[in-house]
Amino acid sequence: MDIINNYITSKNRPRTKRSKTTKIAIHYVGNAGSTAIANRNYFQNTLNEVSSNYIVGLEGEVICCIPHDEIAWCTNNANAYSVSIETCHPKTDGKFNEKTYKSLVELSAYLLNLYKLTYNDLIRHFDVTGKVCPKSFVAKSKGGTDDEKLTAWNKFKADVKKTMVSKEVGNSSSSSNTNSNLSNSLNSNPNSSTSSNLYRVRKTWLDSKSQIGAYKSLDNAKKACKKGYTVYDESGRTVYTKANSNTSKPSNPTSGLTKGNKLLLKDVSLFVSATAKTGNKKTGTYYIYDGAVVNSRLRITNKLANCGKSPIGMYVTGWIRKSDI
Ligand SMILES: [Zn+2]
Repeated sequence: MDIINNYITSKNRPRTKRSKTTKIAIHYVGNAGSTAIANRNYFQNTLNEVSSNYIVGLEGEVICCIPHDEIAWCTNNANAYSVSIETCHPKTDGKFNEKTYKSLVELSAYLLNLYKLTYNDLIRHFDVTGKVCPKSFVAKSKGGTDDEKLTAWNKFKADVKKTMVSKEVGNSSSSSNTNSNLSNSLNSNPNSSTSSNLYRVRKTWLDSKSQIGAYKSLDNAKKACKKGYTVYDESGRTVYTKANSNTSKPSNPTSGLTKGNKLLLKDVSLFVSATAKTGNKKTGTYYIYDGAVVNSRLRITNKLANCGKSPIGMYVTGWIRKSDI
């Protein structure tokens, strides 16, 4: 499962952080045969107040329309405490095809892990408002296509549980895998500071496909780190780098979020901290200070030579939203 970040920029992304996240809400798009990108563009362009954090498409692709820690207009009064996932389906019966179902299971497991929740924290739109959504997980007697025992919904929750467990087991080994579950995991768990603390070996933090391993032991991660790769901690901070012998070219100049990358900002909010509520608009040339992402924000500095230097307070100009880059 790869997550494509394609954030909407209209008023349907209110840019409000959720203060807590205790549920993952599952939906179906209700528009048979429509694609993930078409639904994303609908959220972008419609005057209706509607959006979601994620959309899972018919090919199993996952589009993130709104960062997982921000409110979307999807699950009514549960928006304040749930991440929402819209799911595409080929026919009007609302049943998901195999690729879509697999990605939905993986995405749900990923988000539950991220927020330290369990499979019992999966909810349906139906549970909040009684709306027949997602149709294939609502009983026939209520207008859906599931049986009265909710066999499909319960199987889904069991599949998510299984995926969560298998990822935990997978993470404890030192083999090179875990790519699929860790795609674009730009944030450590926002609800808790005690995360699983894996060291990931990648070309750049954003390039999750380049990951050659995830390790509990830093020593093992360093051993696995090849030329041109970097060891990152749970929140994307650079821990160890083995530079390319060819130093004239950065390994991934387009990633945008690595230390020292040049940013041309135009009217971007600059905050004094990762959590400050209000910022000042800035325009000009800045550089990524260290690439660490905290609360979906990164530190920037006004001189390339300042990048990574300490004390941080002397060299960091401020924080900007990752999404503004
Ligand atoms: Zn819904």
